[in-house]
Amino acid sequence: MEFELVVNNGLVVDGTGAPRYRAHLGIEKGRIVAISRDQPLAGRTELDATGLVVAPGFVDVHSHSDWILPLADHDEILTPLVMQGITTVVAGQCGFSPAPATEEVAPLLDGFSEMLRERAFAYTWRTMSDFLDVLESQGVLLNTALLVGHGTLRYLAMGRRSGTPTERELAAMALQVGQALEGGAWGFSAGLAYAPGVFAGNPELLSLLRVVADRAALFAVHGRAYSWVSPLYRPMIGGTAHNLRSVRELLGLARASGVKLQLSHQIFVGRRTWRTHRAVLREIETAAASGVDVAMDAFPYTVGNSTINVVFPDWFLDDFERQVDDPGSLRRLKREMDVLRLGLGLDYRDITLLWARRPELAELEGLDFAAIGRRLRQPPFEAYMHVARASQGRARVLLGTYSGDGAREEPLRAVLAHPLCAFMTDTILTDQGVHNPASFGTFPRVLGRYSRELGLFTLEEAVRRMTSWPAARLGLADMGGVATGHWADLVLFDPETVADHTTPDRPDAPPSGIHAVLISGRVVARDGKVEQNGRCGRVLRR
Ligand SMILES: [Zn+2]
Repeated sequence: MEFELVVNNGLVVDGTGAPRYRAHLGIEKGRIVAISRDQPLAGRTELDATGLVVAPGFVDVHSHSDWILPLADHDEILTPLVMQGITTVVAGQCGFSPAPATEEVAPLLDGFSEMLRERAFAYTWRTMSDFLDVLESQGVLLNTALLVGHGTLRYLAMGRRSGTPTERELAAMALQVGQALEGGAWGFSAGLAYAPGVFAGNPELLSLLRVVADRAALFAVHGRAYSWVSPLYRPMIGGTAHNLRSVRELLGLARASGVKLQLSHQIFVGRRTWRTHRAVLREIETAAASGVDVAMDAFPYTVGNSTINVVFPDWFLDDFERQVDDPGSLRRLKREMDVLRLGLGLDYRDITLLWARRPELAELEGLDFAAIGRRLRQPPFEAYMHVARASQGRARVLLGTYSGDGAREEPLRAVLAHPLCAFMTDTILTDQGVHNPASFGTFPRVLGRYSRELGLFTLEEAVRRMTSWPAARLGLADMGGVATGHWADLVLFDPETVADHTTPDRPDAPPSGIHAVLISGRVVARDGKVEQNGRCGRVLRR
């Protein structure tokens, strides 16, 4: 018997967490059809995996690629994801999905997604199902699963209105959640720190989560707070840490609705927030032990990408254009930012400018705002406001002190080591400005640094949480394992050399040790180069 493709002599790490074993794989029509433990198999094409691990393709469980995938050149922009072994993205995160959409809602969606992309696209679809059809007809670089965003649905039902939804509006949103899930979405996401998610009370969320729970779908949520003090809870100081309150509320919603909960990007922002990490993890464990179906995800860096206006309070953002030139508003803003800066332990040197969106400021890209202040001969606050004003609040930044800084990263390690933690990039891919290292090194870094070098978990456990664990959370069938009948989405990597090589100076350095990446049984990347094989990804529908 000759197979279309065989992968011989590899060490299979099958995604279940079981110990690796030597085997040969036969692949036909995109799927694994034979696993032989004794003889190498014969195939029209053969990949020799001697000395390499053969693992299921990695699942990026929190991706913003849905704002790139509709672009004609999305495969070029998203290539760094495939180069690190990612074969599936779960997009539609933090409350926003490009579908369902209408002409009226398009400008509102553009307002949010501007931070996630540099080029707009036309919304040529209405429903989730239409959107998936569009992606399917143009082809996708990698497998794509979508969640439907609460923010998108709230805009559809209520426009810009920020209050509590009327009964009719809430019923309309609930109907839309059900339709999107029926139309192929794998779950529901919310971004409770962004408008309009920030306006949603827990009763509104609970009634929508009941619809999600009824269909056994996933709820992925960007919580109201990731730091011990935040603008969204009162009192500002005193009482329970805000990030702990946020997690408690979400666990309460999951308990009340019965929904499957995914706590998105479980980070601890600001040096003074780090000490809360044990209490937060304990809260999650206690809930899990009492039957709440909860998991979380994280990236293996102490930095994350966002926009320059993420640190501004809501009163300032409300009328940004006017306030940014008003001396009184700026004085008040500086006072509040000083309090937050000292209270959080997050300073100007912890924020790096990635993309200024202004050619005359491009020379500042890659510098932190303490350095930018020195360059511009201004105090850091003035330098920060200069870039914020010039970019109309849209400059892209990399924030530090996420669960650690430099050698101090105990909270980050505690989250990564946790058996409930899946891995994700949360990255904003770009061909402008300076990159987020997560675009290039996330999965190699977990395998190289946190598994091999620091020994936080075995290689088999790392692969489990990159593959079968997120696949099971979403309910992806025939994926996330090396098993007969499964799709041949595979990564061949060298367990001794797999590593991330990004540094602050080279945030786009390619990883080492990733030898080949297969999607639907076709080789899409080999030895760090793209194989011209078209768009092999599958648009996944529930
Ligand atoms: Zn988020």
